[in-house]
Amino acid sequence: MTQRIAIVTGAARGIGAAIATRLGRDGFAVAVLDLDADACAGTVAAITGAGGTALAVGADVAVTEQVEAAVARVAAELGPPTVLVNNAGILRDNLIFKMTDDDWDSVIGVHLRGAFLMSRAVQRHQTEQRYGRIVNLSSTSAQGNRGQANYATAKAGLQGLTKTLAIELGKFGVTVNAIAPGFIETDMTAATAARLGVSFEDFKSGVSAAIPVGRIGQPEDVAATAAFLVSAEAGFVTGQVIYVSGGPAD
Ligand code: NAP
Repeated sequence: MTQRIAIVTGAARGIGAAIATRLGRDGFAVAVLDLDADACAGTVAAITGAGGTALAVGADVAVTEQVEAAVARVAAELGPPTVLVNNAGILRDNLIFKMTDDDWDSVIGVHLRGAFLMSRAVQRHQTEQRYGRIVNLSSTSAQGNRGQANYATAKAGLQGLTKTLAIELGKFGVTVNAIAPGFIETDMTAATAARLGVSFEDFKSGVSAAIPVGRIGQPEDVAATAAFLVSAEAGFVTGQVIYVSGGPAD
């Protein structure tokens, strides 16, 4: 049982909610972590309604004290977390000449500092258990994307973090991988359409025309990949970046 406790950050909605729900279905007790614990109620209900175990945890992943308290609470109430999915994310898109200090700091803070703080806190339990799985949410934007200097930098940085932690933690039975989604239908991509002034329907059909499999992605596409990477049988896969983008984007 100690090897079946997972924390998914940013799990109140979108991709994080789908991953948490999938892991709950796969038998993990899931800490559903997001900024606002009340916002996690829907994800928790989806897991417990299907017979699983879930705990809503409110924390800002970019704040050390909140991360430390959240991970300690999960360990006390569910048991030592051995699976961590660093999914929490925000967008503050702007071309470089309009990008503010705050646009930069907040995006780097949530994605990069957040994944660092969460990984540092959880690896204590993983190394003690001599077993663990970390999955970081990168993006195809890591290859560069107009208007996303902050986000692309953070998502590329997460790939470096992934490979480095894979090297450091491998001998403790801990694997560390990244998933780099392409366009996934969530509030985040809906907000991008709104910012560009196009309807979400037009935005989605425009994007899907350029995707080899002929459709945009769904949160469940990412969740299925995460489910494999956190499984015991994926123990020889580490330091990898898996593109879940409907095509060979890399
Ligand atoms: P989303 O719908 O915007 O959900 C993100 C969640 O993260 C929200 O519940 C948000 O809470 C939470 N969050 C934000 N800042 C946080 C913080 N400091 N601490 C804790 N939780 C925080 O986004 P999504 O589309 O599901 O994306 C999930 C991840 O996949 C992100 O890392 C994103 O960059 C990545 N990704 C998404 C796509 C895509 O096409 N959607 C593609 C590639 C990569 P609030 O609601 O309170 O803000």
